[in-house]
Amino acid sequence: MKRVFYFLPVLMLSASITGFSSPLPKGEKPVRNIILMIGDGMGTSQIYAGFTVNRGHLNLERIKNIGFSKTYSTSYVTDSGAGGTALATGHKTYNGAIGVDAAGNPVKSILEWAEEKGKATGMVATCAITHATPASFISHQASRNDYEIIAADFLKTDIDVFIGGGLNHFKKRKDGVDLTASLRQKGYSVAFNIDEIKKLQQGPVAGLLDSVHEPRWLDGRGNLLTESVHEAIRLLSSDKDGFFLMIEGSQIDWGGHSNDINYIATEMVDFDKAIGEVLDFAEKNGETLVIVTADHETGGLGLNGGNLETGEIQAGFTTKDHTGVMVPVFSFGPFSGKFSGIQENTDIFYKMLDAFGFDNKK
Ligand code: MG
Ligand code: ZN
Repeated sequence: MKRVFYFLPVLMLSASITGFSSPLPKGEKPVRNIILMIGDGMGTSQIYAGFTVNRGHLNLERIKNIGFSKTYSTSYVTDSGAGGTALATGHKTYNGAIGVDAAGNPVKSILEWAEEKGKATGMVATCAITHATPASFISHQASRNDYEIIAADFLKTDIDVFIGGGLNHFKKRKDGVDLTASLRQKGYSVAFNIDEIKKLQQGPVAGLLDSVHEPRWLDGRGNLLTESVHEAIRLLSSDKDGFFLMIEGSQIDWGGHSNDINYIATEMVDFDKAIGEVLDFAEKNGETLVIVTADHETGGLGLNGGNLETGEIQAGFTTKDHTGVMVPVFSFGPFSGKFSGIQENTDIFYKMLDAFGFDNKK
């Protein structure tokens, strides 16, 4: 909920470059909570694949404000490190970077902003919590591959709830240090399965539910993502100052890398279930901005045929890697209208700052 402020020179520079003025227009109230949902590798084809196997319906359709995001990094085609860093910090950077700008300087993330302003913060992912997308919100490292160094960065923050895989990066480390013990010393409840988390009355909570990443939905992950989201919201929403929560559907991307349409579509439907859970909360709460977007598209997926009654899809792929196409930005709740139109991925960070009423010149 708080942390030492050490990014000031960098931030002042970025404010002068972008010319953003953060104070909200007269009469506009800042939002209390922001839930940012990232479908890794989720382009419009991946969404439509989910729509098809789900027989013509997705919770995503409940969201009426839609825009697009230009995903390029300092390369035409981004990776998840640079894509995550753009969304998290408002900086376009080099592929592989985690929370640092193109020159390698650490840049403060929206999660760190929220923490500093007294809000509760959390992250949920189906990959290792140290993997590129979540790492971009909490760590500042030159390379996404330094998982054990990234794990240690969690101890430098006061994140209230994190749930995902990655236990090995905390506990089975080359340096022999057991970071789960350090987390406990810092006051965290460390949980190894979702049932343990369900019993906890308050944070901070470190949910390290698998050694590296969680299983594929196809291999029996079941309802773990939605349940993790439910528990994270339950724990975070008790904070009187509001919260920031990042949720990643991590493995849509991995289905794309495998050129496996079944993997993509099932991960997409599972992510959409979590979207439904979030929208149910946001509808009742009324003070929560929900953004659902992606860091990039993966696979160059085309849907060449299909059947909305049987859920069958004929898929084609142009690559086993990411592509440079725009990805959709769905937004719901107060401030959601600001996310329509075509925008830079980095604009999403500045709009979230504005929605929270944080002034990036200070
Ligand atoms: Mg990812
Ligand atoms: Zn990828």
